Amino acid sequence: MELHKYVATPLYSNNKHIKSEVMNKDIEQVLIDKNTRPTSMRILVYKFLNEQMAALSLSEIEEAIGGDRITVYRTLKTFEEKGLVHSIQEDHTSKYILCEESCSEHNHEDHHLHFYCRKCKQTTCREEVQLPTFKQYPFKIEQIQFFAKGICEECLLSS
Ligand SMILES: [Zn+2]
Ligand SMILES: [Zn+2]
Ligand SMILES: [Zn+2]
Repeated sequence: MELHKYVATPLYSNNKHIKSEVMNKDIEQVLIDKNTRPTSMRILVYKFLNEQMAALSLSEIEEAIGGDRITVYRTLKTFEEKGLVHSIQEDHTSKYILCEESCSEHNHEDHHLHFYCRKCKQTTCREEVQLPTFKQYPFKIEQIQFFAKGICEECLLSS
């Protein structure tokens, strides 16, 4: 995986179009705001995820960061619990990507389409896609996944 080809993104994915240099101090504050103690590993993982446009697997994150697998895994699980990261189930792996600012502990609001490009093999969040809304049902939906596969705009252009 060529990590250098990703474009840096700012602190929150809904501001994707504004490029900004994120300081460790800013990341510390984001973690504190989500009730997460800012350890150096957490800052490192968050900073790295913040620079990614696409979701990455545990192995990819571990490899890029050079931390030990268990610690990186625990960091991701904590982030998921605290509403900092959401995961996408893809065949037999989970991929992780940063949340919207509105996500909080045990309350994720990442109800958007995830799109997998079979050419560049990247999975991205597609907040721009209109999804069905759900009226009241006698059952309770706790988790819902919208997943699409195809060819992304960049790969379409370069083919
Ligand atoms: Zn979330
Ligand atoms: Zn692609
Ligand atoms: Zn997403």
